[in-house]
Amino acid sequence: MRTLVWFRSDLRIHDNTALHHAARQSPRGVVALFILSPAEWKAHDYAPARIHFWLKSLAELSAALASRNIPLVIATAAKPSDVPALVLAATKRHTCDALAFNKEYELNESNRDAATLALFEREGIPAHAHTDQSILEPGTLRTGEGRWYTVFTPFKKAAYAHLLKLHGSAAMPPLLPAPKKQEPTGISSDPIPPTIVGCEHTPAPLDAEQRSWLSNLHGGLAAGESAASKRLAWFSKDRLHAYKAGRDTPSLDATSLLSPALAIGTISPRQCLAAALDVNRELFPKLNHSATPGSSLLDAGSDGVATWISEILWREFYIHILVGFPRVCMHRAFRPATERLRWKVDASHFTAWCEGRTGVPLVDAGMRQLRAIGWMHNRVRMVTAMFLAKNLFLDWRLGEKFFMNHLIDGFLASNNGGWQWSASTGTDAAPYFRIMNPASQSATCDPTGEYIRRWVPELRGVSGKDIHEPWELAPLLRAKLEYPAEPIVDLRKSRAAAIEAFQALA
Ligand code: FAD
Repeated sequence: MRTLVWFRSDLRIHDNTALHHAARQSPRGVVALFILSPAEWKAHDYAPARIHFWLKSLAELSAALASRNIPLVIATAAKPSDVPALVLAATKRHTCDALAFNKEYELNESNRDAATLALFEREGIPAHAHTDQSILEPGTLRTGEGRWYTVFTPFKKAAYAHLLKLHGSAAMPPLLPAPKKQEPTGISSDPIPPTIVGCEHTPAPLDAEQRSWLSNLHGGLAAGESAASKRLAWFSKDRLHAYKAGRDTPSLDATSLLSPALAIGTISPRQCLAAALDVNRELFPKLNHSATPGSSLLDAGSDGVATWISEILWREFYIHILVGFPRVCMHRAFRPATERLRWKVDASHFTAWCEGRTGVPLVDAGMRQLRAIGWMHNRVRMVTAMFLAKNLFLDWRLGEKFFMNHLIDGFLASNNGGWQWSASTGTDAAPYFRIMNPASQSATCDPTGEYIRRWVPELRGVSGKDIHEPWELAPLLRAKLEYPAEPIVDLRKSRAAAIEAFQALA
């Protein structure tokens, strides 16, 4: 047997479920396939920076597969509906008699996979879709009434109990090794294009301060499986125990920076969980609530490990929501009542937000960081998103799309989940009346203003606490700054108006 392994958002050779099983059962060798699908990527708003990151990671994957005698062949889809036929054509061309791939859960992707499986069934070729993108297959965990969870905390408790049971019974699947050298196939790997026409990425110019920060990130945000593994190893040994204390301070290198790697699969969530348990003596840290199930495999451990595992479970939760409530893939609010909100239409406000010219330093710093490097710190994502949806009262879908168009870690489940959380339209969302004040968030999370000064050079000359509210400076000092004299909206009034709009829904 020879198996075709269709790679998508799982660009690694270690702990890759489809690849591992294919390699064990294919005496005539394995062929790997990747389909370039620029029309689909554009329709899904993938950022050119993300596509660039993907291609770089693909080049590393191709070399790693080649060293195991697995050629990586490339096909190009003119339109998404061509994909199943392209997979079948590659299977036949390379005389494969089975297909394996890891599941993707977005609505279009899972429809595409279903069409592919149906086509292979009609052709009589065995095809297998594996669970790999999430630790738990979405839908595994249900409430007592058999419903899909819609609130994170009970989901997390159930996930913890489930994982503990697997861990305790040694049923927790071990991390899968990279495949051994395969039987040669005589098929050559195709070259990986360095860029895709229409999706070219032009890196934004960075100044010396920004370049120096980026080059000191201990391999964070770098493409490829080896960089992701090194970053995970460094982060778990050097940063994980202090994660809880540092994770909300955007000036620090205190979070894993693995979201781009998780989005395209140069690292797996199981590898992340295993690394966290490894630094916690193979024990699950106790959750910070009383309902933690009792088990000898639990340990107080460090708050850092517990908090980080929670973040990995947020990712699981949002994937689970995507599958249980596919309307969120179709630009629909999770909470239908919020569809009645009459968002404002204001192109100049939206442009100011996109360009980081709102006059609110933390918001502007976040948006400039996003545009410059394709990544933004989580706390600042929440602040910028709430500012758009609550203070500017613009439709959260505009922000969701803009983020997707710029993020190297763009991942529908988490991006949609984060936006609907911030806009209070989503599952387990921030209550509509709890609106983050971007100036006080700034004073709390960036007390020295280091983050703001890094990304908003016009404010580097502002000293002390004025950095958070430059509109409070004396008019003469303010006039010297090449920065908006006032925020584009009154923070207090706009907050009150948003609350009123939500109250009117009741
Ligand atoms: P860490 O703090 O080290 O966390 C580890 C991993 O857990 C992350 O890499 C990520 O995979 C997962 N994670 C952490 N926080 C969350 C969360 N709130 N929701 C879901 N998963 C989480 N994350 C994306 O991966 N892609 C997105 O497109 C995305 N868009 C977002 C949009 C908004 C408006 C908001 C509020 C959040 C968004 N997030 C997104 C979640 C979060 O901001 C990033 O995952 C996080 O900033 C990545 O940094 P890190 O890898 O250092 O995370």
